[in-house]
Amino acid sequence: MAGGPGSYVLGAEERKEVLDVLDGGNLFRYGTPGVDGFQAKVVTFENEMAERLGHKHVVATSSGTGSLMCCLAALGIGMGDEVIVPGYTFIASIATIAMMNAIPVLAEIDESLTIDPTKIEALITPKTKAIMPVHMLGNPCDMDPIMEIAKKHHLYVIEDCCQAVGAAYKGRRVGTIGDMGAYSLNVFKTITTGDGGFVGTSDDELYERAFGFHDQGHKPCRMGVEVGNRSMVGMNMRMNELSGAVAVAQGRKLDGILDTLRAKKKELKDQLQGIDGLGFRKINDEKECATLLTLLFDTKELADKFCAAMGTSPIAKSGWHVYNNMEQILDKKTWTDNHPFHLSDRTYEKHMLPQTDDILDRAVNISIGVVDKGLGSGCGININSTEDEINATAKHIREVIAGL
Ligand SMILES: *Cc1c(COP(=O)(O)O)cnc(C)c1O
Repeated sequence: MAGGPGSYVLGAEERKEVLDVLDGGNLFRYGTPGVDGFQAKVVTFENEMAERLGHKHVVATSSGTGSLMCCLAALGIGMGDEVIVPGYTFIASIATIAMMNAIPVLAEIDESLTIDPTKIEALITPKTKAIMPVHMLGNPCDMDPIMEIAKKHHLYVIEDCCQAVGAAYKGRRVGTIGDMGAYSLNVFKTITTGDGGFVGTSDDELYERAFGFHDQGHKPCRMGVEVGNRSMVGMNMRMNELSGAVAVAQGRKLDGILDTLRAKKKELKDQLQGIDGLGFRKINDEKECATLLTLLFDTKELADKFCAAMGTSPIAKSGWHVYNNMEQILDKKTWTDNHPFHLSDRTYEKHMLPQTDDILDRAVNISIGVVDKGLGSGCGININSTEDEINATAKHIREVIAGL
């Protein structure tokens, strides 16, 4: 089955939370606890996740894409503003910048497969408003130099934590280091509600604005007098109580899932040490999510041969997480030709990021907890794999490499 670790451990806990809501009969996220069967699952999830990650505020949403848009809106990013984002990420990171009428500026990644901090400053112009580091494949970005650059140039930092819920960098959970963090709960992520997401921040005003954007400009939880008091026009990106119920149970499993994945990844990785021509991507903090093991071969030729023998693909050819494969971005396709992204002078072309291309040509994902061909992790283990299965996988990989 394709999916993330959260989808592999759905069980009695999620069932109980969902049945609470169905038995109560109130599926809407707003209500008064105890009145009309309201169970306050979404609010419970928000409060527990804020506490768990170290945010003052969390807003649950309907997707990671929506969460990114809430962050951009809360920070006032719009027409013609430039946002620096890596060329290796899920398309939503880049697309949401364009969706908010701003201009994505693509940056190189380094061997951690996250944004290369040494390549950011050259991209800054008077129009730059923010940096969007993406904690790709569960690995935290190297946030210290990124925050230093942001401070020096007065830029906002929006952390795209969609693939790294719960990961930590130098003792702090990702999403709490920049101004805001955006998270996804879709089925391929660390924990899941089928679809869903959330925004985290510790700034009261940003929280209010993100909340407003996600729900027609209303004040948080629609409390107090609203008519005449709404901050802006907004969308409907609310999470409903059924998703909130699953989110409560999955949130409580998060740290257990991460511990299990880290242990299983170590078992597999330890058995793949010392092989000629094979290394691993750089991990910026051992408290990464461990959802994937990324092999980094010395040469593209070796990576291609390995993939052919394993029936998988190097990341460069894995699909839509690589800017080279994003035709909507390369051709600036929106729903109208009269769109600031379409009309901007910036051009996007295949192979505009040679360092990124070189790394992704040599990189191969092995699944640990996220099983997703779209990430190139068409082989490997999952969160429920036994020690015997892990050993067999390690042995198979070693044999394949020895035979190349
Ligand atoms: C999954 C993902 C998103 C979008 O999340 P959805 O919940 O699918 O909308 C954004 N950014 C990254 C890096 C992702 O992996």
